[in-house]
Formats: sequence, C-alpha cells, structure tokens
Amino acid sequence: MVSNNLYETAQRQFERAADLVDLPVAYRTILSSPKNEIIVNFPVLMDDGAYRLFRGYRIQHNNLLGPYKGGIRFSEYVDLDEVKALATWMTWKTALMGLPFGGAKGGITMDPRMHSRDELRRIVRRFTHALGNNIGPEHDIPAPDLGSNAEAMVWMMDTYANSVDGGQNVKRVVTGKTVECGGSVGRDKATGQGVAFCLAHHLELSGRAVSDVSIAIQGFGNVGEHTARVLTAMGARVIAIADMSGAIECSDGLDPESLWFHVNKTGGVVGYPDSRELSADEFFSVDADVLIPAAIENQITVDRVERIKASIIVEAANGPTTPEAELQLIERGVEILPDIIANAGGVVVSYFEWIQNKMSQQWSLATVDEELRKLMWDACDRVEERRLALRCSRRDAAYAVALDRLRTVYDQRGIFP
Ligand code: GLU
Repeated sequence: MVSNNLYETAQRQFERAADLVDLPVAYRTILSSPKNEIIVNFPVLMDDGAYRLFRGYRIQHNNLLGPYKGGIRFSEYVDLDEVKALATWMTWKTALMGLPFGGAKGGITMDPRMHSRDELRRIVRRFTHALGNNIGPEHDIPAPDLGSNAEAMVWMMDTYANSVDGGQNVKRVVTGKTVECGGSVGRDKATGQGVAFCLAHHLELSGRAVSDVSIAIQGFGNVGEHTARVLTAMGARVIAIADMSGAIECSDGLDPESLWFHVNKTGGVVGYPDSRELSADEFFSVDADVLIPAAIENQITVDRVERIKASIIVEAANGPTTPEAELQLIERGVEILPDIIANAGGVVVSYFEWIQNKMSQQWSLATVDEELRKLMWDACDRVEERRLALRCSRRDAAYAVALDRLRTVYDQRGIFP
C-alpha cells in the first residue's frame, strides 16, 4: 500500500542513499532516528479568560556537525511524525550546504489564524519557557517555518533571554528575527532567493536562463511570494499561482507586487484582476516549463503526475513529492531539484544571521545575497558531480553529498565513548 507518512518517506530516502554510498552500519544506525524527541504540553490563557492546553515539539535529529538547527512550525497538522521527518531533512540540508549545524525541527499544534496576536504571543512565550534550556545559542537554534514568522522569533528570543539566560549575547538563540531585533537583511526572502539561484544554475547547464521559462508556483506564503518576486525580477514569467483560496492563471505573467496587495486585501489569490481561476487539478496541468511546489508536503502525488506538463520541478517546500510520484516523474524525464538543496537558502541565511549576531556585525543585502549565491551554486555543483559519478537521481546525489560529509566527520571523531 502507498503510504504518505512523511517520516516513512524520509526514512526510505535515507535508506536508499545509505545503500548507494555504502554507509557503515554504525552511522546508519545512529542517523536512522532522532537523538532527542522533546514534547511539551503547556497551558495558555485565551482572550476569553479560559486556559487551553497546547502541545509543542522539538525534535533534535543530529548535532555531529554543530548545534541543532531548524524551524518551528505552527499548524493544526503538526504531529510527531511530521516534525521527525522535517528534523531529519534538516540534518541532510545543513550537511549538504556545508554549514556548522546539525538538524532539528519544532512545532506547535495550532492554527495561527485562529488566534489573536495576544494569544499567539502567549502561546509562543509559554512554549519557549517550556523548552527551557533545550534550546540555546550554541545548542539548538530555532527559526521560522510554515505558519510562524519573524515576530514569533523575536518573542522566542526575548523569552529565552528573560527566563533562561539573562545575558545580552543570546540573540543568536533564534534566527529569522526582525532586522530591528538582530535579524539579517535578506533573511525574509532567503528561501525564495535560494530557489531562484538553484533554478538559474540548473538552467545554465542546458544553456538557458530564468528569463526563458514560464513558471507555476503552488503557495503564496513567505516562500512562494518571495520566489515569485525574485524570479520575476530575474525576467521569468510566473503564469500561475495557487494558495488556500484556489488557483489563478495569467499567461502573460503575474506581477507579484500587485498580487501581494490583492492577497492582503482579499485574503487569497483568487479574484486577482485579469486572471483566470483554475481548479486545483487544472493548476497542476498548467502549461508551465517549471513547477515550484512552495506550500506543504505530499502535493505531487501519483494521481497528479499524469497531468504535470512541466519538465523541471523545484521543491521549495519540504517533502512536496511522494516517492512513488518521484519515480514516475523521473521515468518521464522530469528533472526534480530536491528540497534539501532547493530550499536551503533559508537556513543558509539563518547561518549568516547567527554569525552576524556572534560578531555584532550587520552585513549589507548585497553581501548576504552574494554569499548565499556562492554557497548555493557550490552545493549545486557538488550534487551534479555526484549525480554523474553515481548515475543516480538528483535527490540521491544530494543525500550522497550530505552523507559523505557526516561519514568523514564520524570517521575522524569516532563514536563516543
Ligand atoms: N524552516 C526553514 C527550513 O525548513 C529554515 C530553517 C532555519 O533557518 O533554521 O529550512
């Protein structure tokens, strides 16, 4: 039976790649489950005076290469298996990108749209307090993910500073903060910027440029919006966008800035002037060269594969393609740029923010973008080199680069004691 359990997907991908690179059994055993699984239940005062119990998670998958690193997700669908999968992917992502971090992920099971700003602030503060010193600037560093944002990161940082470590030098306990409170310029658009760098570099291999292709993007949250903005600025035509309100097509290309105003005013992309409304199924059939899933997991499924006309899929979301769908797409010659490289721009700029905080520095946007470009292109080159050597999929090649790095460090350090 086909299962869309995210953790099973993550495990299958890992086992495949571990076989491919012949990973020693001991390392395989260690990496096959998270080091720590922290679950906290905490009460929060609601605006109506009642207390409600919330459940939050922090899964610390591996810290061989450095402090645990990864986002905090706010969604009613957050559960243990999802967070375990996302934490596992962070370990591969940071290893692949050559960052001095391990992998982690967290989440609170709640729909942020159902809470006032005051309630959200109390939820985030109480969660951070419940985590206590399970996070820390040199131990485990959260960041934004689906449903959370820079403001929530500032609340986390402030709560940590006031309750766990009163020192002033703890800003870097969290990344993705507002610029005023120690965030990095360029962090808000970093994932989208990284997606664009990754696609541009891939297209270059076949002598093409971003300005030669048409693009469909699923999702218009932080990642989808910035991906659309950056790619449009680079000359691409974004011809379709989907979000929770539905999907729209505009074959001449959409203007992300005016779409953003429309979404802010109306709550969704549907109804954007001069666009045609599409059903969810029609969205996947759009005649675009590139499809960018930038929303949630398990969106590119076997029953949608047939419809997809795009020849390139860039995984801006984590885990958007099911393993069965991936096999069928590869058989059809569709090129898939996998999540652990395609959406790594966010954590890379989180790393830049962490360095800036540590050194009390502020980099310019030009520096952030240029350093991000260098890391992205370098990782893309290493993946391509491994793909050609191993004659495997891009996902397997990306895993191989990540696992090689972890293996080398385990070889040199040994397994404690
Ligand atoms: N949540 C993002 C991701 O999935 C960013 C993580 C970070 O910046 O630590 O990669």
